[in-house]
Amino acid sequence: MASGGLSGWAIARIFGITIRIHASWVLIFLLLAYSLAEEVLPQSSLVGGGPWWRGMDAYNHILAHQKSEGLISFYGAAEELGIAVWPWWQYWLLGIIGSIGLFVCVLAHEIAHSIVARGAGIPVEGITLFLFGGVSQLKKETETPGDEFRVAAAGPAMSVALGLGCGALYLGLYGALPAQARAILFYFAFINLALAAFNLLPGFPLDGGRLLRAVLWNRYQDAARATSVASWWGKAIGMGFVVLGLVEFWWEFTVLRTLSLGPLWLVVIGLFLRHAAAASYRLLSVREAFAGLTVRDAIRPDVVTVEPDLTLDGLVDEFFYAYKFRSFPVLEGGRLIGVISLKDVQGVPRAEWPSRRVREAMHLVREENLVHPADGLSDVFRKMAEEDKGHLPVVEDGRLVGIVTRHDIMTLIQLKTDLGGHWRPASR
Ligand SMILES: [Zn+2]
Repeated sequence: MASGGLSGWAIARIFGITIRIHASWVLIFLLLAYSLAEEVLPQSSLVGGGPWWRGMDAYNHILAHQKSEGLISFYGAAEELGIAVWPWWQYWLLGIIGSIGLFVCVLAHEIAHSIVARGAGIPVEGITLFLFGGVSQLKKETETPGDEFRVAAAGPAMSVALGLGCGALYLGLYGALPAQARAILFYFAFINLALAAFNLLPGFPLDGGRLLRAVLWNRYQDAARATSVASWWGKAIGMGFVVLGLVEFWWEFTVLRTLSLGPLWLVVIGLFLRHAAAASYRLLSVREAFAGLTVRDAIRPDVVTVEPDLTLDGLVDEFFYAYKFRSFPVLEGGRLIGVISLKDVQGVPRAEWPSRRVREAMHLVREENLVHPADGLSDVFRKMAEEDKGHLPVVEDGRLVGIVTRHDIMTLIQLKTDLGGHWRPASR
C-alpha cells in the first residue's frame, strides 16, 4: 500500500527487515477481536463453524429473544431457546487468535513485497503495520515496469496462496476438525482472499494500481504518464468508496431506520485512499523528476574561491560583504583544501581578524562530503538534507569544478515537474 512518514514501535526483525507497529494498529486489533468474539464467531458457531453469514438469522433470533426477555447474556438467551453455543471464553480466545492471525497474514503479504523488492535491488527500510493494513517502506522506486509488476504482484500472490491454503485445509479436514478450528480456518481463508481482492483494486497506490501502472509504463514507455493515470484511478476508487458509504448510510438511516458505523467506515477508507493516491503521486513525481539527473545537471561552475593566506579582515570585507555568500571554498594551487564559513570566522575574536589567516580558521571538508559530477542528484540531495548543508563542493580528480546547492536542485526539480517531466540533458 502507500508509503509515507509512518513511525511506530519496532517489534521484530524478519529476514533483516524491521517490523514496526503504529499506534493506530492497536485500535484495529481490538475492534477486530471484539467483532470476531461478539458477532462473527457466534454466528459461525451456529452453523457448525461454517460461513458465518449463514448463522446470521439464528444469531439475530437469539439476540431478539435476549432483548424481549430482558436477559443479561447472549448465552443465557441461547440456553433458554435450547440452542447450543460455545462457552464465552472460547469466542474471545478465538477472537484474539483471529486478530493476531490477521496481523500475521498482513505481515506475510508485506514481507512478500519486500523480499521481491530486495531481489530487484531495492533496499527495504522496514514494514509498518497501521490502521489500514501494512506498508513496505522501500528506499527508492522500481526502475523498470517488469520490476514494478513483480514487486506489486508478490503481496496479493502471497494473500491468495494463504487464502487458498486455509480454504483447502477447511474443506479437506472438514469432518476431522472441531467446529472451533473450522470457524477460524474459514475466517483465515476469507480474510486473505478479501485482502487480496481489496489490494488488487486498480487504483494507485494499492497493489492493483501499481500493476496497472506497470502495464501502462510498459505500453507508453513513460513512467510519469503511467503514474498519472494510475493515480487518477486511485482517487476515483477512493471517491467511489466515499459515495458508496454515504449512500449506504442514508439508505440504512431512512429505509431501515438503523444507525451503524459500517458505512462510515467505508467513507473513512475512501478518504484515506484518496489522500494516499494524491500523496504518493506527489512523492513519485519528485522521485521520477530526479531519475537520471546527476550533479553535472545542477552544478554551478562559477564558484568564488579564496586564497588560504588571505586575512580574515580581508575575507569579511572583500568576500562576505561583497558576494553575500555564507561560505567559500579555499583553494591552494587549484586544489580544494577546505571551506571557510561565516561560523568559522565568528569563532575568532574580532581583534584578531587582521592578523589571522583563512588557513587557520577554515574547516576541512570530509571526504564523504565531496561530491563528483557523475553522482546521482537524488543521493546528493538526500545527503544535504541529512547533514543540513545548503551546498557541497564538487570535485573531479581532486580539483574543484564547482558547487551544487540545495536551492538549485529544488529549482531544477520544480522546473522538470512543471514541464511534465520533459528533460534534455544540456551537458552530456
Ligand atoms: Zn500489497
